[in-house]
Amino acid sequence: MNRAIYPGSFDPVTYGHLDIIKRSADLFGELYVGVLNNTSKSPLFSVEERVNMLKEATADISNIKVVSYSGLLVDFVKEVEASVVVRGLRAITDFEYELQLAQTNHVLYPEADTMFLTARLEYSYLSSTTVREVASFGGDITKFVPKKVAEKMYEKYGIDKK
Ligand code: ADP
Repeated sequence: MNRAIYPGSFDPVTYGHLDIIKRSADLFGELYVGVLNNTSKSPLFSVEERVNMLKEATADISNIKVVSYSGLLVDFVKEVEASVVVRGLRAITDFEYELQLAQTNHVLYPEADTMFLTARLEYSYLSSTTVREVASFGGDITKFVPKKVAEKMYEKYGIDKK
């Protein structure tokens, strides 16, 4: 079975990520969503919280596994025996970094390949960073993330939206 990994920080998961997840799950037999546990960054949500939010948001997709990983992406790819890494491209600004990452990973582990899905036009402006910024000032983020994620974000920032 063709197994792919969609890795990222997902801090928090947005509708842009979810669109890439749905489309990838249609393309591959099995999709692992890999949530990066990056100890050098201090994320808004813990890795457990990010995994749980993703699990909830993707509960209706049967061929998905949401798991956390730390360390090198290629080691995670080897561990779960995946052959493809999926990444999303929003704009030209993503391209340079993504190209570098894909080529580095290919040198480290030529058995796997990176495939890019282009962001849907309606989500191409959307990033977790922007969502965090808007939420921190109490702005409306319901067009960017699922309702439950929005509630958790306001809670983190101590904003009462009721
Ligand atoms: P990282 O923290 O590794 O930069 P993210 O967790 O923000 O990554 O995103 C994971 C992947 O999803 C990346 O390939 C990124 O380009 C892609 N992505 C992020 N936001 C969107 C979006 N709105 N539409 C499509 N792809 C996206």
